[in-house]
Amino acid sequence: MIGDRSVTVFYDEVMLGHDPDVNLPFLPSRVEKRVRNILKELDFKWSYPEHPGRLTAIKELLDAEPIPGLTFKAGAHASYDQLGRVHTTTYLDHMFSLEGKPAWLDSDTTAVSPNSIKAATSAAGNAIAAVECVVKGESQSAFALVRPPGHHADPVRARGFCLFNNVAVAAAHAQAKLGCERILIIDWDAHHGNGTQDIFWADPDVLFFDIHCAAPFYPGTGSLYEVGGGLGEGYTINVPIPEDTGDVIFEKAFREILVPAAAHFQPDLVLISAGFDPHRNDMALNLTYDGFAMLTSIVQEIAAEHCDGRLALVLEGGYDLKSLSRGVHTVLQVLAGAEPPEQLKERGLQEVEEAAEFHRDAFNED
Ligand SMILES: [Zn+2]
Repeated sequence: MIGDRSVTVFYDEVMLGHDPDVNLPFLPSRVEKRVRNILKELDFKWSYPEHPGRLTAIKELLDAEPIPGLTFKAGAHASYDQLGRVHTTTYLDHMFSLEGKPAWLDSDTTAVSPNSIKAATSAAGNAIAAVECVVKGESQSAFALVRPPGHHADPVRARGFCLFNNVAVAAAHAQAKLGCERILIIDWDAHHGNGTQDIFWADPDVLFFDIHCAAPFYPGTGSLYEVGGGLGEGYTINVPIPEDTGDVIFEKAFREILVPAAAHFQPDLVLISAGFDPHRNDMALNLTYDGFAMLTSIVQEIAAEHCDGRLALVLEGGYDLKSLSRGVHTVLQVLAGAEPPEQLKERGLQEVEEAAEFHRDAFNED
């Protein structure tokens, strides 16, 4: 029943301060010129899709339709040292030098506004707080509602709306300070988590499972054959899928690939890069709210089976405000104890079964 399980939601309005505006004058640089040329060639007015309204839409729905069992908290900002576990000092020094300034960082649309660095350290810090909360047993699960997202940011570079790799910073903190030895990171965002993959590529203590829309969909990485390297070979699992893939196939991938991998790996903490852009309203893939509920119940089972239920989710993408907010709400309901759907069906199956029943006798002479 909803309310049976405790969930802590980490959120801080400081993350609304990240508000890149493509029309502001940016720092002069070659990158900016390239970006301006790309934007000029688009035949529609481009606005920054990763905007503060994403978080406010989620918050408004949670206020309008409260879920029993939820507690809201704000985490502290991540420190330079905490970020430095996964990013280079050169990169961090550059990022902190941008505080208070607007700038483009990358040609694939990563920009900052004057308050972006504060928002980004808050995003990483709230991901850390979510991990601390579940490892210390303060609640059964936690969800860090953060932006800017993180999973495209690699050790040296901001990419795809991401500044600091929030989930990676949280995992590294759990290893360094909370006694976690083996961490399972599951990325169900529609895009491949190239940054998270790079950061833990050679690390056998982090198992990275990523299901995503296959290349050439952004960022173009995440082929089946990218399996990690060195000591980490075999600890990266990519499941690239075609763009129409929906609930039934997602569930199959989770049950047939992720569940046995997790049983082999025996994690002591489960983290989710929770993107909501696989929803059918968004840019690719075909998940429904039932699909998100099912995936949540599977990762909950994995955490319950291997690590006393320690499960923390960190928000990644999701750009359609309705499916983003409703998707988060659905996931939180399952975390709080709602029953997931008994069985996912291929879309349209129920309607066709009903139609078949309706027409069954129409052409029957008897
Ligand atoms: Zn995404």
